[in-house]
Amino acid sequence: MLFDYSRCEECKKHKAQLNDIKLTLCNKLPPQICNAIGEYGGCCEKCTEMKLNEKEFMKQQKNSNLDKFELQIKFFRIYHYNKMPIEFYSASRQTLTKQINDFYSNEGLVERFGGERYVKPDKAFVKHNRELFKYLDLNLTNKTELINLIRVFHIKEKNFMHYNCRFPVENIVKLFIIEFLYAIVGEDYFQYFSEDLSDMIVEHYDPIFEEA
Ligand SMILES: [Zn+2]
Repeated sequence: MLFDYSRCEECKKHKAQLNDIKLTLCNKLPPQICNAIGEYGGCCEKCTEMKLNEKEFMKQQKNSNLDKFELQIKFFRIYHYNKMPIEFYSASRQTLTKQINDFYSNEGLVERFGGERYVKPDKAFVKHNRELFKYLDLNLTNKTELINLIRVFHIKEKNFMHYNCRFPVENIVKLFIIEFLYAIVGEDYFQYFSEDLSDMIVEHYDPIFEEA
């Protein structure tokens, strides 16, 4: 299984409710019927839909050489339960500007950055480098292409100047990846990952940056 469905809060609630029903009924019904009720577990709508999609997705990916995390990301990019936060290759220039503004005004993001003023340089950098982020978005699950991208755009060496301050491009890009994946997956779906999502992102992308 690509995701850990046993962590679903909705399903846990659902199971607890079923147990309550079973307890009530078992005082009134013959034991063999009680056992049948006990085996009837089921899961919530969200998990049911996801499990079906996962089955379909894994069939399509049978010959893919992506690792588990890359498959998980690809899954959310195909079955986006959340709207793509920034549509780098389909949105008009004007829409793109709005999407980048919205992306960087997200309350959770601003809090994680430590306040509005820390968000500004990153937002400006993304707006000035749409081509870079378009390729990044396209190749989020392609290690080789990512390494190329990091080299070609000199991501590790460059600084971005914003109001006379210097910001390492590498940091901006790494933070972007975390926030972008957060937005693609959506908070409601973080629970399906067996580890903390940001830890998984860092563990996956840091070695790629090191290798580049
Ligand atoms: Zn569930």
